[in-house]
Amino acid sequence: MHVFTLIFLAALGLTLTLQIWLSRRHIAHILAHKAQVPAAFSDKIGLAAHQKAADYTVAKTQTAILQHVIEALALLAFTLGGGLEFLAQAWQGRLDSPLWEGAALILSALILMAAIDIPLSLYRTFVIEARFGFNKITPKLYVLDLFKQTALALALGGPLLLGVLWLMGAMGEYWWLYVWLAWMGFNLLVIAIYPTFIAPLFNKFQPLEDAQLKARIEALLEKCGFHASGLFVMDGSKRSSHGNAYFSGFGKTKRIVFFDTLLKNLSTEEIEAVLAHELGHFKRRHIVKRMAWLFAGSLVALWVLAQLMQAPWFYSALGVSTQTTASALLLFILVSPVFTFLLQPLLARLSRQHEFEADQYAAQTATASALIQALVKLYEDNASTLTPDPVHSAFYDSHPPAGIRIARLQMVST
Ligand SMILES: [Zn+2]
Repeated sequence: MHVFTLIFLAALGLTLTLQIWLSRRHIAHILAHKAQVPAAFSDKIGLAAHQKAADYTVAKTQTAILQHVIEALALLAFTLGGGLEFLAQAWQGRLDSPLWEGAALILSALILMAAIDIPLSLYRTFVIEARFGFNKITPKLYVLDLFKQTALALALGGPLLLGVLWLMGAMGEYWWLYVWLAWMGFNLLVIAIYPTFIAPLFNKFQPLEDAQLKARIEALLEKCGFHASGLFVMDGSKRSSHGNAYFSGFGKTKRIVFFDTLLKNLSTEEIEAVLAHELGHFKRRHIVKRMAWLFAGSLVALWVLAQLMQAPWFYSALGVSTQTTASALLLFILVSPVFTFLLQPLLARLSRQHEFEADQYAAQTATASALIQALVKLYEDNASTLTPDPVHSAFYDSHPPAGIRIARLQMVST
């Protein structure tokens, strides 16, 4: 057995063990705090809502354990189990050129990997979300979504993949620089066309009509020096009763989108505070910073791939006998998450730091007390737990735990 096979197996085992350990800690911590609403929330959230959040989070976390196990087994089957080798042989000589065969290999492998996740996604949507009253999606819409998502992935991902494989083969030693530029261009293109071409495939967007709310929001935008090309309401309620608000696009196509579920559940003042928080992300340049990190990370990743691609052991140690650019790229896409899992807590920490900064901005431009009220409502409506395991939270959570977040807001509001 090659030494890299052992390293891969060790990394996979370590990642899976860590994932299961974190999930089990999380479940134990939530169950231990289920009997009582935390003191800081005792006047804001009832015991029934607190216990619903506990049951909901436990159910989701149990499913996550199952998903980690399934994904690890699938990865083993694809690599050492010979799945990729089988697929590569199956495509060989079937299409006009190695380029098309490479793209077909990668797309078919990724589609198979995605298909493995479908049963759990069905369980999540139609069993868990439904049991807690969140699911609004019909089986028909679910199938339609799946069909559209696959078509979109092929329409956008197909040309990208062909372009990348071509650059890898034609650009010589520094192909990774060219692929990196293409990858950045592709990301910027998707962000630019998302609001006008992609999002409308899945939802309806209507201009915000509530005149009073609109006036309040426009005053806030003015105060923050933010120019949006429109305020829209999205029919999020056709899929789920979870609520949200977000920005999309950049430059002149920048839109502010509210889920209809959010507008229904929050008061004008609370909506204003939530929007001020989102504006905080924009004003503190979080979106630009995140993209800069993403691009820097992908440059490093491509350089690493360029080195690995030339090493025969990279293929053979992972169960693939033919050395092609496509099999190198595919192995890299599938295997690298096993080696980067320990970066997760760093990224989560960075994200939580941004949330604190956006909260602070919201406290300055709107009111901290309205944001606190909105957060409490959102926690209750979404059945988000108030008592996450601290280690699980440090590892995964993109948002700080409710208690800490609200305590900070209370500090600035007094
Ligand atoms: Zn945020």
